[in-house]
Amino acid sequence: MLHRTLPGFIEVICGSMFSGKTEELVRRLKRAQFARQKIQVFKPVIDNRYSADHVQSHDANRILSRPVEKAKDILKFVEDNTRIVGIDEVQFFDDSVVEVAQKLAYRGMRVIVAGLDMDFRGQPFGPMPKLLAVAEQVTKLSAVCVICGNPASRSQRIFAPGTSAGADTSRIAVGAKEMYEARCRFCHEPDGTTRSEDSTPSGLTSSPVNDPREGETQSRLRLRLSKR
Ligand SMILES: [Zn+2]
Repeated sequence: MLHRTLPGFIEVICGSMFSGKTEELVRRLKRAQFARQKIQVFKPVIDNRYSADHVQSHDANRILSRPVEKAKDILKFVEDNTRIVGIDEVQFFDDSVVEVAQKLAYRGMRVIVAGLDMDFRGQPFGPMPKLLAVAEQVTKLSAVCVICGNPASRSQRIFAPGTSAGADTSRIAVGAKEMYEARCRFCHEPDGTTRSEDSTPSGLTSSPVNDPREGETQSRLRLRLSKR
């Protein structure tokens, strides 16, 4: 049977920010490396946080990767003896990444892609719906909601203090921890939220508390800050 010699397939690791997608990708890739399977890892150029040539999670667990401008570039760089192709932050590629992943799988490679399934509004992100549809295996990870502590599926956008919530609606904001937090469906605010308190963490206690609800928000915020 053809599939015995060409066991190519696609795995998707998805979830919100802080759900450990990259950690899971790195874990799978390292496990394959121990078995001396040749791996190659790619990521879109847009993800330039931390380092240009590593897939690096927030926990600094990292593995060498190649930034590419377009998904199709991956086909140029993948070598014939590669067994596993990893793609991180895959949501930032356009739909052509679906075709790329399919081609690699048909060439007999194990393709592991990791990315955000939803943008900060809670809408399906870029090529993710299609990747999820064609994948053989899907792993959906959750984070912990910073408001209520339940499993979080959403990435809450936190707008810069002084910015109106509608001003920066860019979908592609690659983020530092200050710009996003994990939230569950019920605590998620699709239009984003500002936290003016965050600009001056030391001034938290001096912020006027206008109503009981505001006070509640601030005490939650203090809780969050103290956990850091
Ligand atoms: Zn919640």
